[in-house]
Amino acid sequence: MHIAIIGAGAAGCFCAIELAQRLPHAVISVYERAGKPLAKVAVTGGGRCNLTNTFEGVRSMESAYPHGARLMKRLLREFSHDDVCRWFEQAGVRLVAQEDHCVFPVSQDAMEIVHTLTRLMRQHGVRLFTHARVTRIAHADDGTYSIGMADGSTVQAQCVVVTTGGSPKLSGLDMLQPLSLEVVPPAPSLFSLCLPNHPLCQLMGTVVDEVTASIPGTKFRASGPLLLTHWGLSGPAILRLSSYAARYLQECDYQSRLALNWFGDASEAEVLALLQDLWQRHPQKQLQSVYPPCLNSRLWHCLLELCQQRPAARWSELHPKHLVRLSAMLSHHVLSVSGKNRFKEEFVTCGGVALSNVAPSTLESRRHAGLYFAGEVLDVDAVTGGFNLQAAWTMGYVVAKSIAAARLLP
Ligand SMILES: Cc1cc2nc3c(=O)[nH]c(=O)nc-3n(C[C@H](O)[C@H](O)[C@H](O)COP(=O)(O)OP(=O)(O)OC[C@H]3O[C@@H](n4cnc5c(N)ncnc54)[C@H](O)[C@@H]3O)c2cc1C
Repeated sequence: MHIAIIGAGAAGCFCAIELAQRLPHAVISVYERAGKPLAKVAVTGGGRCNLTNTFEGVRSMESAYPHGARLMKRLLREFSHDDVCRWFEQAGVRLVAQEDHCVFPVSQDAMEIVHTLTRLMRQHGVRLFTHARVTRIAHADDGTYSIGMADGSTVQAQCVVVTTGGSPKLSGLDMLQPLSLEVVPPAPSLFSLCLPNHPLCQLMGTVVDEVTASIPGTKFRASGPLLLTHWGLSGPAILRLSSYAARYLQECDYQSRLALNWFGDASEAEVLALLQDLWQRHPQKQLQSVYPPCLNSRLWHCLLELCQQRPAARWSELHPKHLVRLSAMLSHHVLSVSGKNRFKEEFVTCGGVALSNVAPSTLESRRHAGLYFAGEVLDVDAVTGGFNLQAAWTMGYVVAKSIAAARLLP
């Protein structure tokens, strides 16, 4: 019994360990095109590896998994974030949950996760082949699989698990062509947005704790902290928006209008009431010296100028209609986005192997028995916060359990 796993990333390595524990007599091989396994995991979370999330702040599965929420809801019942934490702690990794619900190793070192997974693969006798790029997977009439390698060799397996991760280009899925699967064209997700030459870029490093970013005329909106950078807008609110609107933004070549509510989800009337309060309480103070607590003085100064108000003017000089105009702008500040940028090199791909190809409870191909998929290669992607790795662990687990259940049947 030979089980071939294609790709030694988070999903592939996790699946290999789970399989080896469940099927100790099977030969389990992991084929990795790079020189070492888990290269991406090593750089996750800025080298700290945000390996999961407590899900305490998750209002709906769709808000964490813009693509594949229904599938993830089902799979997480099999192997949840609590299970992931228990699994790694049993393997000797101490974990800590931050205030923002992101879970990291206490060591704050992604290499601890890499070393733990590679050690367990070794201990359980998983065979790891590096510099082994798979170019072709074909299903033979006798039900076995023939796996073509870039060096011209071929490997046979009774069971294949594809865990090759996200690919920004469709050509990354070429190896699957003989299997005639439905594929959703890939699109980048989790990126920051450029505002070329906009005055806000001069405020790089400024963080606003809670904004709502939306794309006018669409349903795409996301809330959370905003970070101003020297190229434009970033931070959780923008990364989340980029994830929800990944395909829309790709289609408009990242040229779009974007609206910011600098007061989170406050309505225009609520913002107006807040400004009227300042106006009544501080008539003799300059606009630049008294401002809403959620903004810092540099940002407030900049926003006043963008709204054509003199920062040195007194609050009493503001005509009520100026207050209305200012509150309209602060709650719906429309900006022109032109281009995207990677956030600390972090991005994932949405799209990939369509979910219609797989049985949702096992992740086995509906058309090819013994062929499974796990991780980012499937059309599932998440916002930042540890949800993408959680998906990789969960799917790796479910595939291992499904294969073992199928093989152990009399
Ligand atoms: C910089 C960065 C930081 C990130 N930080 C986080 C984070 O903190 N938390 C989080 O949840 N998510 C994070 N992510 C996303 C997360 O890393 C991925 O979603 C996750 O690694 C996907 O796991 P996977 O196993 O599906 O794919 P991968 O981990 O990408 O593994 C796929 C493997 O398959 C190999 N492969 C591909 N094609 C072939 C082939 N033809 N033959 C053989 N091998 C092949 C690849 O070389 C790779 O090793 C981050 C992503 C990046 C890029």
